[in-house]
Amino acid sequence: MVIRGLSAKEVLQKLKKLYHPPRSFLHWNTPFELLVATVLSAQCTDERVNKVTEMLFRTHNTPQDFLGLPPKELEFLIHSCGTFRVKARYLHGISRELSERFGGKIPETMEELTRLPGVGRKTAAIILYAAFGKIEGIAVDTHVFRLARRLHLSRGRTAEQVERDLMRQFPQKEWGRINALFISHGRAVCTARSRKCEKCMFQKRCPSSITMGRRDLIQT
Ligand code: SF4
Repeated sequence: MVIRGLSAKEVLQKLKKLYHPPRSFLHWNTPFELLVATVLSAQCTDERVNKVTEMLFRTHNTPQDFLGLPPKELEFLIHSCGTFRVKARYLHGISRELSERFGGKIPETMEELTRLPGVGRKTAAIILYAAFGKIEGIAVDTHVFRLARRLHLSRGRTAEQVERDLMRQFPQKEWGRINALFISHGRAVCTARSRKCEKCMFQKRCPSSITMGRRDLIQT
């Protein structure tokens, strides 16, 4: 049987109807706070990051504040977010770059942001859209990666390949909201380990729907 897959347009329409996610699931008040929270969120839950930053930002929420923190102290403050030594190194490096090259402000282009230590296209796309309303890419995290492949919007093996495929199929004005919409569906229904295809609005036409016996069409 030939399955007519879902188009990007159909996926977007359905997700927009079902979810009204925030621009970011992380708590922040300034672009710098969002950048710090996004760096901390690598391999960590948003809930954990929000708990850590609630305390951290009371006393430290500018590049100067972070530069004044001894590395060991910063590591202690963020240790529950995991990989804390690497993240502390990135945060110090970012703070130094921002102070020395950007007058303590967050740059507003993909090119400049991705030159900061530990900042890749995903983090930069999130900052640009959520903090500045600018759209220069699609933030591909684990949920976006998984859902895009299960829906056959991409067969890419890397975040960069998946981002390229999605950018080709979705209109640019929608790129900023793809991340939050896909995360919402990826957390609620199309989870990594126990997807709930029987409850999914895509189940009849999804090429990876378990309920339709299609789980092996693409490895996720
Ligand atoms: S039908 Fe299943 S595999 Fe497809 S998007 Fe929905 S939950 Fe994911």
